[in-house]
Amino acid sequence: MRKKIVAGNWKMNKTFEEAKALLSEVVNMVKDEVTGDVEVVLCPPMVYLTTSRQYITPGGRVSLGAQNCHEKASGAYTGEVSAPMLQSIGVEYVILGHSERRQYFEETNAQLAEKVNIVLEHGLKPIFCCGESRDLRENGDYMGYVKNQITESLFHLSADQFANVVIAYEPIWAIGTGLTASSAQAQDMHFELRRHIAGQYGDAVAQDTTILYGGSANEKNAAELFAQPDVDGGLIGGASLKSREFTNVIKARQ
Ligand code: 13P
Repeated sequence: MRKKIVAGNWKMNKTFEEAKALLSEVVNMVKDEVTGDVEVVLCPPMVYLTTSRQYITPGGRVSLGAQNCHEKASGAYTGEVSAPMLQSIGVEYVILGHSERRQYFEETNAQLAEKVNIVLEHGLKPIFCCGESRDLRENGDYMGYVKNQITESLFHLSADQFANVVIAYEPIWAIGTGLTASSAQAQDMHFELRRHIAGQYGDAVAQDTTILYGGSANEKNAAELFAQPDVDGGLIGGASLKSREFTNVIKARQ
């Protein structure tokens, strides 16, 4: 059975005091209100990860993720953070290949393959983001483009390695725009991505792969998105910055 996950990507938001308040509120609301088998992954900015760990019970429902890491394990890379560093402070997941990193930091599929490798080598789980631009959605082979992102960054992995990868489909035109993919559009893509994964690794692996949707998901539309058979949860941006709303999104998946 594949995991249900709701992850909150805080991006570059919140001061330290605000971050601590949000962490404590979310952790308490989840403890009091969330049942079932949904896993919650909080991805605050790097600088708050060590403190964030104090709010999390190891082995519990809530775990921590980073928003990025470097493709090398250590060395002269001023300003960067490595996978072994994240592993050493109790982080479990790393978001890789978010469209904002592809766009503003020019991350390529080949570089992301290296990041995926280093993350897996250190026992962390990548949340690998993929998704097409509005132009491609309207005028091009958007399905082929997203499948190719997965092929080029992930299909060198063994089936055992791939079992630790979470996919997040985030159409760029839906991120931060208020323009969510319809549940049918999300299901259509997730179904095709699962079939693409089955072509490489077989049906059993594909059926066990968690595929999250991201892009203007919120407490109003989450239940309908999560009701789709191939939508296993969400990668939530703006709506993860408010404890009440984020908890409501989690409850829509439980
Ligand atoms: P929004 O939920 O703010 O659209 O962001 C989605 C996202 O990019 C999550 O990684």
